[in-house]
Amino acid sequence: MTQSLVLASNNAGKLAEFAQLLAPLGFAIKSQRELDIPEAEEPFGTFVENALAKARHASQLSGLPALADDSGICVPALGGAPGVQSARYAGEPRSDAANNAKLVSDIAAHADKSAYYYCVLVMVRHADDPQPIIADGVWHGQLIEQPRGQGGFGYDPYFFLPSLGKTAAELSSEEKNNLSHRGQALRALINKLS
Ligand code: IMP
Repeated sequence: MTQSLVLASNNAGKLAEFAQLLAPLGFAIKSQRELDIPEAEEPFGTFVENALAKARHASQLSGLPALADDSGICVPALGGAPGVQSARYAGEPRSDAANNAKLVSDIAAHADKSAYYYCVLVMVRHADDPQPIIADGVWHGQLIEQPRGQGGFGYDPYFFLPSLGKTAAELSSEEKNNLSHRGQALRALINKLS
C-alpha cells in the first residue's frame, strides 16, 4: 500500500531525489507547494530543531506524515559558521555569490581551511509525533579561494575534496549524491525505515 508523505521543501531537485529513493519503501511524495502549505519559520540555532519545526508544520497543515531536511556548511575556524545561517550568510536578499564572497573573505586569515557540509532529515508520522525519525550526514572538505566547476549549487565551487582533487561543483550529480551529506542522511533514513 502506498503512503502519502509531504516533503517540507519547495526544491524540485530534492523532491525528485527523495521521491525516487523512497518509492520502493511505499511512499508517494507530495511537495508542500502542491498542497498550498506556506514555508515554515526556521528560527532555531540547530539544524535538527529547524528540520523538526518544518516537518511538524507540514504535517499539521496536511494531516499527512512529513519529511523535512535542514542543511548547511560549517567551518570550524569560524566557530561553526555559517551553520544554520548558510542560506543567508551575507544577509538578504539571499545570494550564493554574496555568501561565497563573504566566506572566502572570512576564512582568508585562518590557516585551518577545513569545512564540512551537514544535513539532517526528520520524519514525523503526525504533527505531535513524540518519536520523530532522525537521520544525518556529514561531508568533509577544504575551502579554496578560487571557484572551480559549474555543477551543484551554493558553496560547491569552493568546497574542495582533497581525495578526489575536485570541488563538489566538479562532480556529476550522481557522484555528489553518492558522497554528499544529503545522500548519506537519506540512506541512513532509509535504513531506519526499512
Ligand atoms: P537547505 O537546507 O537546502 O535550505 O540549504 C541551506 C543552505 O546550505 C543552502 O542555501 C546552501 O547555502 C547550503 N548548502 C546546503 N547543502 C549544500 C550543498 O550540497 N552544496 C552547496 N551548498 C549547500
